[in-house]
Amino acid sequence: LVRFDNVTKRFGDVTVLDQLDFCVDTGKHVTLIGPSGSGKTTILRLLMTLLTPEEGTITVDGQYLTHEERNGKLVKPSDKHVREVRKKIGMVFQHFNLFPNMRVLRNVMEAPVHVLGLSKDEAEQRAKELIELVGLSEHLDKYPSQLSGGQQQRVAIARALAMRPQVLLLDEVTSALDPELVAGVLDVLRDIALSTDITMLVVTHEMSFARDISDSVLMFDKGKIVESGSPDKIFSEPEHDRTKEFLATVL
Ligand code: ATP
Repeated sequence: LVRFDNVTKRFGDVTVLDQLDFCVDTGKHVTLIGPSGSGKTTILRLLMTLLTPEEGTITVDGQYLTHEERNGKLVKPSDKHVREVRKKIGMVFQHFNLFPNMRVLRNVMEAPVHVLGLSKDEAEQRAKELIELVGLSEHLDKYPSQLSGGQQQRVAIARALAMRPQVLLLDEVTSALDPELVAGVLDVLRDIALSTDITMLVVTHEMSFARDISDSVLMFDKGKIVESGSPDKIFSEPEHDRTKEFLATVL
């Protein structure tokens, strides 16, 4: 469903992703691990079209996302095409980025009404189901500032799911939370991962969560995948020295 072919991303002289190839099949959950600065967030930002690669192509559901290769040249697709492909992707950020001036229900309804063109009734019904899924039915009428960080993050998850994305990107979604709020958010995500067929790309430092939900784990170092495999293999029998060193710092 998601495919990176020979993707290179540079910032100035610094190569952050180096001729990266990987793909994620429909319905699979892939976790990206690796030291700070190894390029994990950059991958998610490329998928959100917040960045464009210098080389290589990215496709989602077979459609080119940031550039299309034609006759050996990279051609930029139209903005309309990119918007259509982007609708297949939802993202939850480290900082929840909720609309501060909207109540919980409206935060979750807003994009389905304005971007997908759903009727208000339909969007409201779907939003209420998702808010229930993340355990916040009692807080529909609150503003984000009246919620804990963990609750806000659960609203952000409901909001991302309200767009019915084929792919959900999670970027260190618990790292800004107080420790006692982390488990509640991970429980919600674990339920979603195990009970839906949504494809997930997850950047996390929560290794037991990664082990629970992942079909495969990609270990990054300096913009390259140094090792990949099942969570059992990566966490229990890592082969590469960089993986062993990294895991020693986080496990
Ligand atoms: P972390 O776990 O700390 O979030 P990461 O593996 O997600 O790390 P990235 O955020 O992808 O790493 O960053 C990879 C490298 O690219 C880092 O060295 C970072 O400083 C650099 N970088 C990221 N964004 C930019 C930018 N907009 N301009 C310049 N350099 C950037």
